[in-house]
Amino acid sequence: LLSADGAIQATIFAEMSALAQATGAINLGQGFPDEDGPAEVLDTARRAISQGQNQYPPGRGIAELRHAIAEHQKRFYGLELDAETEVLVTAGATEALAATILSLVDDGDEVVTLEPFYDAYGALISLSRGEHRTVPLRLPDFQPDHDDLRRSVTDRTRIILINNPHNPTGSVLSRETLELIVELAHEHDALIVTDEVYEHLIFNGPHLPIATLAGARERTITISSGGKTFNTTGWKIGWITAPAKLITAILTVKQFLTYVNGAPFQPAIAVGLALPDEFFAGIAADLRSKRDVLSSGLVKAGFEVFDSHGTYFVVADARPLRYDDAVQLCRDLPELAGVVAVPISAFCHDELAAEYSSLVRFAFCKKIEVLERAAAQLGRLS
Ligand code: PMP
Ligand code: GLN
Repeated sequence: LLSADGAIQATIFAEMSALAQATGAINLGQGFPDEDGPAEVLDTARRAISQGQNQYPPGRGIAELRHAIAEHQKRFYGLELDAETEVLVTAGATEALAATILSLVDDGDEVVTLEPFYDAYGALISLSRGEHRTVPLRLPDFQPDHDDLRRSVTDRTRIILINNPHNPTGSVLSRETLELIVELAHEHDALIVTDEVYEHLIFNGPHLPIATLAGARERTITISSGGKTFNTTGWKIGWITAPAKLITAILTVKQFLTYVNGAPFQPAIAVGLALPDEFFAGIAADLRSKRDVLSSGLVKAGFEVFDSHGTYFVVADARPLRYDDAVQLCRDLPELAGVVAVPISAFCHDELAAEYSSLVRFAFCKKIEVLERAAAQLGRLS
């Protein structure tokens, strides 16, 4: 991750946000909302600070938040969790992924992910000295081929790591695919790690957590985060739910990564998780209209646009506009259209990067008027 001159190679998200700042372009690159989340959540953090909740909280997270996480899983998915032993609070989903992979993957163990994959997966698998195997998500609906999945999972597989709903493609895995993953995990004695940070950002819900499928629970580590659901990506409060012995294993690493996390933000996320059902339905509906505005704007601008079923991302093909190289297009886009986006190749190894070289990811977690303006400006490309 160091370049030849010793500088740190920035992540694609940092690079693109810097480009947006430098050029004043509309940032549809890095995924973060441009509006605050629920007032109750923000007020709770302010109150926690003024009331002195500013010292180290417990390593597993404050009891109030662990219980709220367990309650939320019961309310939405019917999963019963022991808040004392089966829930762990982390510094965002990123630390949850890091502690999980670093604690469970040994030298040479294989980790199978979908491809395109969130950039941290590749880096963390390398840090743990594991081997990264991928299963491509195929156009036009970005689903994995079942034979590819069967071929990729073997007795060397330690973890099948999925992300559902999926960043960057906006796809949602079918029940049949999830069932096959559980079957393969059993057959090859692998663990399932499922990154469900977009669990509430789903447009034809409800979300189906793989942990709810028969035979999955005892070998599944589920990861989520408050950042996406409550528009608090800067707070970095995430969590893991898993069987007690896996939580214990992960805690051995987590305690030396961050030790504990953001004391005043924990009661605030607990309040968020207990908000009424209407709040959760509301954020999905709001995001769905934003998806529609951006997707139809991209179509009008001449892109081929793939359906997004979840997350706050949509993928578009620039080839109809005669741009074959999305990396170059994303570099030029601020000047051409005053917009920043991310090439899909940033989420791929070389082979799929070449195949998907004209695909671009746009984020739609922005105010409607911002999306309308971006779409109008992208019209200059044709
Ligand atoms: N996983 C996925 C798929 C994501 O998109 C993100 C957010 N970009 C993360 C993990 C990291 O989440 P957090 O900010 O909570 O660390
Ligand atoms: N999850 C966001 C994205 O995919 C932000 C990621 C980041 O900045 N590391 O754009």
